Amino acid sequence: MTSIFSKIASGEIPCYKIAETKDFFAFLDINPLAEGHTLVIPKKETDYIFALDDNLLAEMFVFAKKVAKAIEKNVPCKRIGLAVIGLEVPHAHIHLIPINKVSDIDFSRPKLTPSKERLNEIALKISSSVKF
Ligand code: 5GP
Repeated sequence: MTSIFSKIASGEIPCYKIAETKDFFAFLDINPLAEGHTLVIPKKETDYIFALDDNLLAEMFVFAKKVAKAIEKNVPCKRIGLAVIGLEVPHAHIHLIPINKVSDIDFSRPKLTPSKERLNEIALKISSSVKF
């Protein structure tokens, strides 16, 4: 069965896109822990991140680094925290989250519910800063 994230990467399901290459796709988390919370996925549909082959995993982190730099430029924060959970969506993904303190990356906290307009605005700012 096609994962929801594959449907997002193919455009079948809409998203707030941040960046895309041949192998990877980045988009805003719809229920972020913080403004700018972004998900990075490989287009190759694989459930578990540590099941990806070495090269793809390494390249995914380099792609995530470029996205993180663009988030940093547009969202005031101390740094970009990185998490891999994967308990909800069975398609490998990295969470990139602007953080100022450790509790900002606590997934047991209530998520935010930003408006479509706000998500659009943030996505436009971040996506226009991504440099490959
Ligand atoms: P995890 O699988 O790492 O536990 O969490 C999956 C993440 O994907 C959650 O933070 C959730 O808010 C996000 N998410 C789930 N469904 C969608 C969706 O349809 N669109 C977007 N943009 N994010 C989603």
